[in-house]
Amino acid sequence: MTLKVNHVLHHEKSKYQDILIFESSDHGIVLVLDNAIQCTESDEFAYHEMITHLAMNSHSNPKKVLVIGGGDGGVLREIVKHSSVESAVLCDIDEAVIRLSKEYLPTTSIGFQHPKVSVHHADGMEFLRNCKNEFDVIISDGTDPEGLAKGFFENSYFELLNNALREGGIVITHTEDQWLRLPMLTQSRKLCIEIFPSVEYGYTTIPTYPCGQIGFLICCKEENRNLKEPVRSWDEETEERLCRYYNKAIHSAAFALPVFIRKALS
Ligand code: SAM
Repeated sequence: MTLKVNHVLHHEKSKYQDILIFESSDHGIVLVLDNAIQCTESDEFAYHEMITHLAMNSHSNPKKVLVIGGGDGGVLREIVKHSSVESAVLCDIDEAVIRLSKEYLPTTSIGFQHPKVSVHHADGMEFLRNCKNEFDVIISDGTDPEGLAKGFFENSYFELLNNALREGGIVITHTEDQWLRLPMLTQSRKLCIEIFPSVEYGYTTIPTYPCGQIGFLICCKEENRNLKEPVRSWDEETEERLCRYYNKAIHSAAFALPVFIRKALS
Protein backbone atom coordinates (compact mmCIF):
# COMPACT_ATOMS: atom_id res chain seq x y z
CA MET A 1 0.00 0.00 0.00
CA THR A 2 1.28 3.46 -0.76
CA LEU A 3 0.07 6.91 0.20
CA LYS A 4 1.05 9.90 -1.92
CA VAL A 5 2.45 12.75 0.16
CA ASN A 6 1.21 16.13 -1.03
CA HIS A 7 3.23 17.95 1.58
CA VAL A 8 4.68 17.50 5.04
CA LEU A 9 2.88 19.68 7.57
CA HIS A 10 5.01 18.92 10.63
CA HIS A 11 7.93 16.72 11.61
CA GLU A 12 9.56 16.58 15.05
CA LYS A 13 11.25 14.23 17.47
CA SER A 14 9.41 14.54 20.75
CA LYS A 15 10.89 13.27 23.99
CA TYR A 16 9.37 9.86 23.19
CA GLN A 17 8.95 9.36 19.46
CA ASP A 18 9.26 10.59 15.90
CA ILE A 19 6.09 12.48 14.91
CA LEU A 20 5.24 13.13 11.28
CA ILE A 21 2.08 14.78 10.01
CA PHE A 22 1.47 15.06 6.28
CA GLU A 23 -1.29 15.81 3.85
CA SER A 24 -1.88 12.88 1.50
CA SER A 25 -3.49 13.02 -1.92
CA ASP A 26 -6.36 10.61 -1.15
CA HIS A 27 -6.56 10.07 2.61
CA GLY A 28 -6.53 13.58 4.06
CA ILE A 29 -4.16 14.43 6.92
CA VAL A 30 -2.09 11.50 8.22
CA LEU A 31 -0.49 11.06 11.66
CA VAL A 32 2.62 8.84 11.74
CA LEU A 33 4.49 7.85 14.92
CA ASP A 34 7.89 6.14 14.65
CA ASN A 35 7.15 5.40 10.97
CA ALA A 36 3.80 3.68 11.63
CA ILE A 37 0.53 5.20 10.44
CA GLN A 38 -1.68 5.95 13.46
CA CYS A 39 -4.62 7.52 11.73
CA THR A 40 -5.75 9.15 8.53
CA GLU A 41 -8.64 11.57 8.19
CA SER A 42 -10.31 9.36 5.59
CA ASP A 43 -10.76 6.16 7.63
CA GLU A 44 -10.00 6.84 11.32
CA PHE A 45 -13.71 6.55 12.11
CA ALA A 46 -13.66 2.80 11.34
CA TYR A 47 -11.05 2.20 14.03
CA HIS A 48 -12.19 4.76 16.63
CA GLU A 49 -15.87 3.88 16.46
CA MET A 50 -15.25 0.15 16.63
CA ILE A 51 -12.69 0.10 19.46
CA THR A 52 -14.94 2.41 21.47
CA HIS A 53 -18.49 1.21 20.85
CA LEU A 54 -17.66 -2.52 20.94
CA ALA A 55 -16.55 -1.90 24.52
CA MET A 56 -19.04 0.78 25.58
CA ASN A 57 -22.07 -1.11 24.26
CA SER A 58 -20.90 -4.25 26.09
CA HIS A 59 -21.43 -2.44 29.41
CA SER A 60 -24.95 -1.73 30.68
CA ASN A 61 -24.13 1.63 32.29
CA PRO A 62 -20.58 2.92 31.69
CA LYS A 63 -19.96 5.96 33.88
CA LYS A 64 -16.22 6.19 34.33
CA VAL A 65 -14.04 5.43 31.32
CA LEU A 66 -10.26 5.36 30.89
CA VAL A 67 -8.25 5.63 27.68
CA ILE A 68 -4.61 4.55 27.72
CA GLY A 69 -2.77 6.20 24.81
CA GLY A 70 -5.27 7.65 22.36
CA GLY A 71 -3.42 10.98 22.00
CA ASP A 72 -5.17 11.84 18.73
CA GLY A 73 -8.47 12.19 20.66
CA GLY A 74 -10.57 9.96 18.38
CA VAL A 75 -11.54 7.49 21.11
CA LEU A 76 -12.56 10.35 23.43
CA ARG A 77 -14.78 11.78 20.69
CA GLU A 78 -16.62 8.46 20.56
CA ILE A 79 -16.83 7.86 24.34
CA VAL A 80 -18.66 11.11 25.03
CA LYS A 81 -21.43 10.09 22.61
CA HIS A 82 -22.67 7.84 25.45
CA SER A 83 -24.86 9.89 27.77
CA SER A 84 -24.23 7.60 30.78
CA VAL A 85 -20.58 8.75 30.88
CA GLU A 86 -19.72 10.97 33.85
CA SER A 87 -15.99 11.15 33.28
CA ALA A 88 -13.54 10.17 30.55
CA VAL A 89 -9.90 10.11 31.61
CA LEU A 90 -7.10 9.89 29.03
CA CYS A 91 -3.52 8.99 29.89
CA ASP A 92 -1.02 9.47 27.06
CA ILE A 93 2.71 9.57 27.64
CA ASP A 94 3.40 12.19 24.97
CA GLU A 95 1.91 15.68 25.23
CA ALA A 96 3.29 16.43 21.75
CA VAL A 97 0.87 13.98 20.09
CA ILE A 98 -2.07 15.67 21.81
CA ARG A 99 -0.82 19.19 21.00
CA LEU A 100 -0.21 18.37 17.32
CA SER A 101 -3.46 16.44 16.91
CA LYS A 102 -5.34 19.47 18.22
CA GLU A 103 -3.55 21.61 15.65
CA TYR A 104 -3.66 19.37 12.56
CA LEU A 105 -6.48 16.85 13.16
CA PRO A 106 -9.37 18.96 14.49
CA THR A 107 -12.17 16.54 13.60
CA THR A 108 -10.42 13.68 15.43
CA SER A 109 -9.13 15.65 18.42
CA ILE A 110 -12.49 17.37 19.05
CA GLY A 111 -13.03 14.91 21.94
CA PHE A 112 -10.52 16.85 24.06
CA GLN A 113 -12.92 19.81 24.18
CA HIS A 114 -15.64 17.93 26.05
CA PRO A 115 -16.20 19.03 29.68
CA LYS A 116 -16.28 15.42 30.98
CA VAL A 117 -12.71 14.81 29.70
CA SER A 118 -9.52 15.05 31.74
CA VAL A 119 -5.98 14.35 30.51
CA HIS A 120 -2.87 12.97 32.22
CA HIS A 121 0.59 12.87 30.66
CA ALA A 122 2.12 9.69 32.04
CA ASP A 123 3.20 6.20 31.12
CA GLY A 124 0.04 4.07 30.95
CA MET A 125 1.48 1.28 33.11
CA GLU A 126 2.61 3.72 35.80
CA PHE A 127 -0.80 5.40 35.79
CA LEU A 128 -2.61 2.06 36.15
CA ARG A 129 -0.53 1.06 39.17
CA ASN A 130 -2.49 3.66 41.18
CA CYS A 131 -5.95 2.60 39.95
CA LYS A 132 -8.01 0.03 41.85
CA ASN A 133 -11.67 -0.83 41.05
CA GLU A 134 -12.11 2.54 39.39
CA PHE A 135 -13.30 2.22 35.80
CA ASP A 136 -16.30 0.66 34.07
CA VAL A 137 -14.57 0.58 30.68
CA ILE A 138 -10.89 0.86 29.75
CA ILE A 139 -9.84 1.36 26.14
CA SER A 140 -6.21 0.63 25.39
CA ASP A 141 -5.25 2.67 22.33
CA GLY A 142 -1.47 2.61 22.33
CA THR A 143 1.08 2.32 19.56
CA ASP A 144 2.42 -0.95 18.12
CA PRO A 145 4.22 -3.64 20.19
CA GLU A 146 7.63 -2.33 19.14
CA GLY A 147 8.90 0.55 21.25
CA LEU A 148 6.99 2.79 23.66
CA ALA A 149 3.93 0.59 24.08
CA LYS A 150 5.82 -2.73 24.24
CA GLY A 151 4.52 -3.35 27.77
CA PHE A 152 0.91 -3.16 26.53
CA PHE A 153 1.28 -6.62 25.06
CA GLU A 154 2.56 -8.31 28.24
CA ASN A 155 0.95 -10.19 31.09
CA SER A 156 1.62 -7.51 33.74
CA TYR A 157 -0.34 -4.94 31.72
CA PHE A 158 -3.45 -7.12 31.54
CA GLU A 159 -3.20 -7.65 35.30
CA LEU A 160 -3.08 -3.90 35.88
CA LEU A 161 -6.08 -3.41 33.60
CA ASN A 162 -8.01 -6.08 35.49
CA ASN A 163 -7.24 -4.43 38.85
CA ALA A 164 -8.30 -1.03 37.58
CA LEU A 165 -11.73 -2.28 36.48
CA ARG A 166 -14.89 -2.21 38.59
CA GLU A 167 -17.07 -5.32 38.88
CA GLY A 168 -18.48 -6.26 35.48
CA GLY A 169 -15.99 -3.92 33.80
CA ILE A 170 -14.87 -4.17 30.18
CA VAL A 171 -11.42 -3.78 28.66
CA ILE A 172 -10.69 -3.51 24.97
CA THR A 173 -7.28 -3.36 23.36
CA HIS A 174 -6.21 -3.30 19.76
CA THR A 175 -4.13 -6.29 18.81
CA GLU A 176 -2.43 -7.55 15.74
CA ASP A 177 -4.02 -8.29 12.40
CA GLN A 178 -4.83 -11.88 11.56
CA TRP A 179 -2.90 -12.00 8.27
CA LEU A 180 0.59 -10.86 9.18
CA ARG A 181 0.88 -11.48 12.90
CA LEU A 182 -1.31 -14.38 13.84
CA PRO A 183 1.22 -15.81 16.37
CA MET A 184 1.30 -12.50 18.26
CA LEU A 185 -2.46 -12.31 18.22
CA THR A 186 -2.87 -15.82 19.63
CA GLN A 187 -0.23 -15.06 22.27
CA SER A 188 -2.01 -11.84 23.39
CA ARG A 189 -5.32 -13.69 23.54
CA LYS A 190 -3.71 -16.41 25.67
CA LEU A 191 -2.49 -13.78 28.13
CA CYS A 192 -5.97 -12.25 28.35
CA ILE A 193 -7.62 -15.64 28.94
CA GLU A 194 -5.26 -16.27 31.86
CA ILE A 195 -6.57 -13.14 33.56
CA PHE A 196 -10.11 -12.43 32.36
CA PRO A 197 -12.97 -14.97 32.55
CA SER A 198 -14.59 -13.72 29.31
CA VAL A 199 -12.49 -12.86 26.23
CA GLU A 200 -13.34 -12.47 22.53
CA TYR A 201 -11.39 -11.50 19.43
CA GLY A 202 -12.99 -9.35 16.76
CA TYR A 203 -11.80 -7.02 14.02
CA THR A 204 -12.64 -4.09 11.84
CA THR A 205 -11.74 -3.25 8.27
CA ILE A 206 -9.64 -0.11 7.76
CA PRO A 207 -7.79 0.56 4.50
CA THR A 208 -4.69 2.28 5.88
CA TYR A 209 -3.64 -0.30 8.48
CA PRO A 210 -1.58 -3.31 7.34
CA CYS A 211 -3.75 -5.77 5.37
CA GLY A 212 -6.70 -3.42 5.69
CA GLN A 213 -7.68 -4.78 9.10
CA ILE A 214 -6.99 -4.39 12.77
CA GLY A 215 -8.02 -6.74 15.57
CA PHE A 216 -9.39 -6.16 19.06
CA LEU A 217 -9.38 -8.25 22.21
CA ILE A 218 -12.37 -7.49 24.37
CA CYS A 219 -12.36 -8.81 27.94
CA CYS A 220 -14.80 -8.78 30.84
CA LYS A 221 -14.33 -9.36 34.56
CA GLU A 222 -17.57 -11.32 34.66
CA GLU A 223 -17.79 -15.03 33.79
CA ASN A 224 -19.85 -16.32 30.87
CA ARG A 225 -20.47 -12.93 29.32
CA ASN A 226 -21.49 -13.05 25.67
CA LEU A 227 -19.38 -10.18 24.36
CA LYS A 228 -20.36 -10.85 20.76
CA GLU A 229 -23.74 -9.18 21.25
CA PRO A 230 -24.15 -5.61 22.52
CA VAL A 231 -26.05 -5.21 25.80
CA ARG A 232 -27.18 -1.76 24.62
CA SER A 233 -27.84 -0.54 21.10
CA TRP A 234 -29.11 2.52 19.27
CA ASP A 235 -32.02 2.65 16.83
CA GLU A 236 -31.10 3.15 13.15
CA GLU A 237 -31.76 6.87 13.21
CA THR A 238 -29.45 7.33 16.19
CA GLU A 239 -26.80 5.11 14.61
CA GLU A 240 -26.86 7.33 11.54
CA ARG A 241 -26.64 10.50 13.62
CA LEU A 242 -23.78 9.25 15.81
CA CYS A 243 -21.78 6.88 13.63
CA ARG A 244 -20.38 6.31 10.17
CA TYR A 245 -19.20 2.70 10.67
CA TYR A 246 -20.46 1.07 13.89
CA ASN A 247 -23.97 -0.34 14.14
CA LYS A 248 -25.66 -3.14 16.04
CA ALA A 249 -25.27 -5.70 13.23
CA ILE A 250 -21.59 -4.90 12.70
CA HIS A 251 -20.98 -5.35 16.44
CA SER A 252 -21.87 -9.05 16.13
CA ALA A 253 -20.31 -9.37 12.67
CA ALA A 254 -16.95 -8.20 14.05
CA PHE A 255 -16.69 -11.50 15.92
CA ALA A 256 -17.56 -13.78 12.98
CA LEU A 257 -14.17 -15.34 12.22
CA PRO A 258 -12.81 -17.15 9.16
CA VAL A 259 -12.18 -20.86 9.80
CA PHE A 260 -8.37 -20.58 9.96
CA ILE A 261 -8.57 -17.90 12.65
CA ARG A 262 -11.21 -19.76 14.62
CA LYS A 263 -8.96 -22.84 14.56
CA ALA A 264 -5.85 -20.87 15.50
CA LEU A 265 -7.65 -19.37 18.48
CA SER A 266 -9.32 -22.54 19.71
N1 SAM B 1 -4.93 3.86 16.75
C1 SAM B 1 -3.57 3.90 16.73
C2 SAM B 1 -2.92 2.66 16.18
O1 SAM B 1 -3.16 1.58 16.63
O2 SAM B 1 -2.15 2.81 15.23
C3 SAM B 1 -3.02 4.34 18.04
C4 SAM B 1 -3.19 5.81 18.10
S1 SAM B 1 -2.73 6.71 19.49
C5 SAM B 1 -2.08 8.12 18.63
C6 SAM B 1 -1.31 5.94 20.21
C7 SAM B 1 -0.83 6.73 21.41
O3 SAM B 1 -0.25 5.86 22.37
C8 SAM B 1 0.24 7.77 21.10
O4 SAM B 1 -0.30 9.05 21.30
C9 SAM B 1 1.37 7.47 22.08
O5 SAM B 1 1.97 8.63 22.61
C10 SAM B 1 0.63 6.65 23.14
N2 SAM B 1 1.51 5.78 23.92
C11 SAM B 1 2.46 4.93 23.47
N3 SAM B 1 3.06 4.31 24.50
C12 SAM B 1 2.46 4.76 25.63
C13 SAM B 1 2.63 4.51 27.02
N4 SAM B 1 3.57 3.65 27.43
N5 SAM B 1 1.83 5.14 27.91
C14 SAM B 1 0.87 6.01 27.48
N6 SAM B 1 0.67 6.31 26.18
C15 SAM B 1 1.45 5.69 25.27
